[in-house]
Amino acid sequence: SKRFACTHQSLEQLNSSVNALVAISKTPRRTQHHGPLEGVTIAVKDNICTSLLPTTCSSAMLSDYTSPFDATVVRLLSDAGAHVIGKANCDEFGMGSLNVNTIHGPVINPHQSPHARNLPWALRERRSAGGSSGGSAASVAAGMCGVALGTDTGGSVRLPASYCGVVGLKPSYGLISRWGVISFADSLDCVGVIGKSINAIEKVFDVVSVYDKRDPTSATSELREKARSSAESCLPALSSGAQPTSLEGLRIGIPQEYFPVELDQSVISSLRTVIKGLAAMGASIVPVSLPATQYALSAYYVIATAEASSNLARFDGIQYGLRVPLPPGATRSKPSDVYAFSRSAGLGREVQKRILLGTYALTADAFDNYFLQAQRVRTHIKSDFNNVFRHHSVHLHLNRASAPRNGVDVLLHPSAIRTAPLLDGNGESEREGHEAPGLDEYLQDVMTVPASLAGLPALSVPAGLADDGWPVGVSVVGQWGSDELVLRIGRVIE
Ligand code: GLN
Repeated sequence: SKRFACTHQSLEQLNSSVNALVAISKTPRRTQHHGPLEGVTIAVKDNICTSLLPTTCSSAMLSDYTSPFDATVVRLLSDAGAHVIGKANCDEFGMGSLNVNTIHGPVINPHQSPHARNLPWALRERRSAGGSSGGSAASVAAGMCGVALGTDTGGSVRLPASYCGVVGLKPSYGLISRWGVISFADSLDCVGVIGKSINAIEKVFDVVSVYDKRDPTSATSELREKARSSAESCLPALSSGAQPTSLEGLRIGIPQEYFPVELDQSVISSLRTVIKGLAAMGASIVPVSLPATQYALSAYYVIATAEASSNLARFDGIQYGLRVPLPPGATRSKPSDVYAFSRSAGLGREVQKRILLGTYALTADAFDNYFLQAQRVRTHIKSDFNNVFRHHSVHLHLNRASAPRNGVDVLLHPSAIRTAPLLDGNGESEREGHEAPGLDEYLQDVMTVPASLAGLPALSVPAGLADDGWPVGVSVVGQWGSDELVLRIGRVIE
């Protein structure tokens, strides 16, 4: 395994141009520790609790917060011998796609396009690292650490991985414990792993993908085993540890709804190259349809904001978070004044906008038309996937014989509609007028939210450079619990 011997000083130096880390660990690396992750350096997204470093969620609300405990994932990693190098910049509470909604300043994508290699740093394009786990992806891409933890609610691991040219896994919902992870939208939140290679990711995933009794949504060992064996049953070529030489028998679905008009031409050609390679190895390429995809983005933004409005209620200046001195006229004895002033000062525009939107979706007036309707769409999205996969979800308790006979093993599609957007003009400068982003930013999530709504494993793998010289990612999506299969197919692509 590759060792990263970044000293504190060289990390600081690398970080000064990328802004990927918001806290850098000062504790020296343990040299005596043995375990499967010995020598592995890890950056942890700043919405995952660590007892030795602050956890700010990139929010003024938590700028002084240090958790008294480590999240389960962090504990598992340190017990296995990994070294946490620092906390990674992110969009505030995970809300965003560009890593510009942050009190720490935007993350600068460390990728250098071949056209810009000879230019001095100051003259290079400043592009977004993607969000919300932008700091996690950028710290891996810049070589600050071997692996990074992110969270993915609607694409926040896959999108930045795609923009930065690294691998990003959003596992099946419930496989990695969320205990100690600050919730954005519980029914969608997943801890994800970002690395330069599938190998690096797999090593970490093996350690953190275990049942945790402290997370009520954690999948039991029995369920994990059932899903794993079901995924492997008909793919003997892929079940051995070695790199497969043939993909005979593997059926890969290409969902026709994942080619919206906004999709960049050079992203399509990168995907085409990947498809050709897989077909040349014997895989069958099957066009499939997931008709509810067109409603996924709207459903996601209703469900995610509704859950967020409830989860973020705890940041009120009393239970948790920043408490500001009250202006004249406000009453200290009135909790609602403390809440209102503290939350207005502590939460950014995008977070406030979502809390309002989510609160509205849960009011009596809007509940049926928005929240329940979004849940119905979510059900349709899940059945779309179940209608195309060769295996039923183990959650459905259906017998194997009733699965679609011509089903596919995995789906393949572009991870994003384009390469990393420019920061200047796209992020901060527009944000200077304190405008929350418009619909454009939400559009970036078109390809990633369906797998989130269905809780499925999804992996973004680099697929070369687009015409502009920036990385393109393709995504492999599998049935619930088939994470190992998804990783193996990713390994063939990488
Ligand atoms: N970009 C999406 C959002 O803003 C996804 C965020 C995430 O996955 N945490 O909600």
